[in-house]
Amino acid sequence: MKFNTKTIHGGQEHDPAYGAVMPPIYQTTTYAQTTPGGHKGFEYSRTHNPTRKALENAFASIENGNYGLAFGSGLAAIDAVIKLLEPGDEVISTSDLYGGTYRLFTSIYEKFGIKFHFIGMDKAANIESYVNAKTKLIWVETPTNPMLNIIDIKAVSNVSKKHNLLLAVDNTFATPYLQQPLGLGADIVMHSATKYLGGHSDVVMGALMVNDKDLAAQLYFIQNASGAICGPQDSFLVLRGIKTLHIRMQRHCENGRAVAEFLASHPKIEKVFWPGFETHPNHAIARDQMNDFGGMLSFTTKGNNYEESIKIVEKLKIFTLAESLGGVESLSGHPASMTHASIPKEEREKTGVVDSLIRLSVGIEDEEDLINDLKQALS
Ligand SMILES: *Cc1c(COP(=O)(O)O)cnc(C)c1O
Repeated sequence: MKFNTKTIHGGQEHDPAYGAVMPPIYQTTTYAQTTPGGHKGFEYSRTHNPTRKALENAFASIENGNYGLAFGSGLAAIDAVIKLLEPGDEVISTSDLYGGTYRLFTSIYEKFGIKFHFIGMDKAANIESYVNAKTKLIWVETPTNPMLNIIDIKAVSNVSKKHNLLLAVDNTFATPYLQQPLGLGADIVMHSATKYLGGHSDVVMGALMVNDKDLAAQLYFIQNASGAICGPQDSFLVLRGIKTLHIRMQRHCENGRAVAEFLASHPKIEKVFWPGFETHPNHAIARDQMNDFGGMLSFTTKGNNYEESIKIVEKLKIFTLAESLGGVESLSGHPASMTHASIPKEEREKTGVVDSLIRLSVGIEDEEDLINDLKQALS
């Protein structure tokens, strides 16, 4: 099956009870047994639920994995991965990281004796100097938020394989439509399914996809033992979202390109961060490992004025000023006052999050309306 067919049919079967084409929402906690232990594969909905199972099979299929796991949020999925580790273990992570992931690593897991190194991974060779006998996991996010840096997954996986480490990739921004990390050597793919997989800004959910049977068994054990699962209604909604992932992504990419090119030609714009530009420092890697460049981009305005950027996001009408990304509707954000406000100015500026930086999640509306909206807000 090719990708577009997988988004609709991957891992799916018609419901055995009545042949329902869409999986029913099995809104039940428990399942009748004919004799103790005599059940049809489902005992209790923390452990298994048929609607969640249908979604987990779809998750596995779209990432070309053997196993998929659904969680109550993206962070719950990351939490399950870190629970594979033990006190004393070390993790090497990209420094340009989703803020919630950074908070989970540092505010929760450092307390339990896990050590995290946050480093730049543009050169995979940089990673090796941080590897020691305690290193267990490399955590990669690409493209990164909000600067749209690209990390070479295959090059990082050469390091992880050489030292027998697990490599996990947060594939939230790219989605499997653009990049499939398992095929590039990753062991674990993670998604905030809240974003593009769900795609309609109406569900918070997380996903893990893996190929290795033992690794999957450990993660299923953690999923059940820690219990950060998602409900059947949310499973149904994300499964429905996935069925249009390919056509949504195609439009996100087309509109992303149009908006990036419009902004790059606007006299008030200083710089546009979008991996599709040949001038982007990691363009060659993006071209190799991604099928297109996605609908996320950031830009700065000339003069780097904090108040002016606030005014721009306030004036945007079709781009709603809001946290999150990846839905059908366009969103804008001002990292310096929103997602990155808690990071001291000098620290955030080191990674490029300057006062005038605005991040856009370009939706699937008409391109002309999006560009006109930006035109009026910049005028
Ligand atoms: C949103 C996001 C997360 C966290 O996911 P939640 O579903 O909000 O818990 C992790 N990584 C990235 C890249 C994200 O954008």
